[in-house]
Amino acid sequence: MRESLRARLILAQKTLLRWHRRNARVFSWRHTIRNPYEVLICETMGQQTQASRIELFLNRFLQVFPTVEILAEAKQSDVIRAWQGLGYNRRALNLHKAAQTIVRLYDAIIPNTEKNLLALPGVGPYTARAILVFAFKKQVSAVDVNVSRVLTRLSKKVKTTSEILATEKVQTINIAILPKRNNREWHEALMDLGATICIKRNPKCSICPLNTLCPSSSLESKKSASAVIKKTSTEKIYFGQPKRIWRGRILAFIASTKKKTFDTICEFTAKEYMLERSDASSICTVVIKELTGEGFITKRADGSYELA
Ligand code: SF4
Repeated sequence: MRESLRARLILAQKTLLRWHRRNARVFSWRHTIRNPYEVLICETMGQQTQASRIELFLNRFLQVFPTVEILAEAKQSDVIRAWQGLGYNRRALNLHKAAQTIVRLYDAIIPNTEKNLLALPGVGPYTARAILVFAFKKQVSAVDVNVSRVLTRLSKKVKTTSEILATEKVQTINIAILPKRNNREWHEALMDLGATICIKRNPKCSICPLNTLCPSSSLESKKSASAVIKKTSTEKIYFGQPKRIWRGRILAFIASTKKKTFDTICEFTAKEYMLERSDASSICTVVIKELTGEGFITKRADGSYELA
C-alpha cells in the first residue's frame, strides 16, 4: 500500500474512533467483556439478519439455550423453534452441530484460532474472524459488507455507489492499518458508520466525520446517486411471501410435533395462512421437495416427514 494512502487511512481511523466513542450503536451484546458463546450465536444470526433485528431474537435464544452444553444437548426441533422468525433455518441447524462439535472436541470452550473455528459447521472466514475480533480481541481483520463499503470509498474515489473492492483487497488494506489497542472498537466503528452514514445508496457524506479525508465524499450528489445499479431480487415469491419464509414456516411445523404427512402439512398451511387447499398444496410440494433434497427433512416409511 502507498505510504500516502496508509497515512490518510490512519488519520481517518483516529477520527472515526473518536466519532464512535460518542455515536456507537447501542446493542445488548456489546458489553465490555464478551462471552464467546454469545458472540458465536450473534455472528451466526448476523449472517443474514440485520444487527437491529438480532436484538429481538438473541435474548430469547439465550434464555432457552444459555450455554453451549445445553444447546448441544437440545433436540433439533427445539433449536428450530427458538430460531423461529429469523428465517434461513440452515443457520440454526449448523449452530446446533457446531455446539455439539465444541462440546465433543473442545471441552465446551469456544475455540480461539481461525483454523479451529473454520472447522465448525456454518462458520466461514468472516464469522471466524469476527469471533476472534469481538470475543477474543485478536489482531485480525473481519471484513463484512459495511467494512468493505467504507474502506473502498475511503481508499479511492469511486464513481458509483455500487463500486466495491474485492474482499481480499479490502482485507489487505484493513490488515495494514489495524490499530494495536482498539481493534474491536475499530471494526465496530467501521460497521456503525457503514450502517448509519456511509450507507449503500445515498451516503450521507455531508454529516460524515470523514468527509474531509474521503476521496468519495461527492457520492452524495444527485448525479452519483442516480448511478446506483439496482439489483432485482431473484427470490421466488409465492402468494405474497418469498420462498424462504414458506420454507421456515413448513420446517417449523414439521419440527413442532410428530407424524407430519403431506396432507397434514397442507392442511396446516392452508388454514394458518388462509390459502386455498390447492395453493397450499402447490407451495408445500415445492418446499418439501427442496427441504428433502437438501437433507433438512426425511420421509419415513409411513409417509410422514421428520427433521433429518
Ligand atoms: S464521506 Fe461519504 S463516501 Fe466517504 S466515508 Fe463518509 S459517507 Fe462514505
